[in-house]
Amino acid sequence: MSDPNDQLHPMPDDWQRALAVVAHPDDLEYGCAAAVAGWTDAGREVVYTLVTRGEAGIDTLPPAECAPLREAEQRASAAVVGVSTVEFLDHQDGTIEYGTALRRDIAAAIRRHRPELVITLNHRDTWGPAVGGHWNTPDHVAVGRATLDAAGDAGNRWIFPDLVEQGLDPWDGVRWVAVAGSTFPTHAVDATPGLERSVLSLLEHRAYIEALTDQNPEEYCRTFLTGNAEAASARFGGRPAVTFELFSR
Ligand SMILES: [Zn+2]
Repeated sequence: MSDPNDQLHPMPDDWQRALAVVAHPDDLEYGCAAAVAGWTDAGREVVYTLVTRGEAGIDTLPPAECAPLREAEQRASAAVVGVSTVEFLDHQDGTIEYGTALRRDIAAAIRRHRPELVITLNHRDTWGPAVGGHWNTPDHVAVGRATLDAAGDAGNRWIFPDLVEQGLDPWDGVRWVAVAGSTFPTHAVDATPGLERSVLSLLEHRAYIEALTDQNPEEYCRTFLTGNAEAASARFGGRPAVTFELFSR
């Protein structure tokens, strides 16, 4: 684990295709959309896979009404940072189970899209410091862990042989899994070029944010994302940053 005072390394940039796998609409927008904007600017392809439609995310909206609304917000927020492919695995929001069914669905997504870089969200127990931080949600922990595991599953033809029968050949080309929002970041991307678009991308989750806070939505998004990027700058040569815990394969 990294020393909290160490400088973060620049994220690798010798890749062409990334797949981001997260539990809920808004996870990537809170986590790393500024980095995604920079990557798509550079001509790289990024695909989003959402394990749920976030249908349990708004107290005042029953899931059947919430799911299509949040799906539409997610597609709009992806488009702001240059992502046009957004898919949903339709596990149940709030009660995602870590296990082979989840690993299989994520491995299938990895085989479909054949990424070199896989991105997910904090699989650690807490947000912020390991001691005294905020407890993470079970959905994030399950999806983060299953994504780290599925990067290996995707490359082995004898794990989930039914996927091969469906025409999804093994893909052993994942070189890294990058965990956004981790308690133990090791790498970072300069947030500056994508920061404004990351604010607009998060702001596309307007129904969710309006239900969450009385604050002006744009002010809320800007304060959150700018604050995070600036907090990380001390470990990245003074540049506002999006941080990742990078696992090489
Ligand atoms: Zn989430």
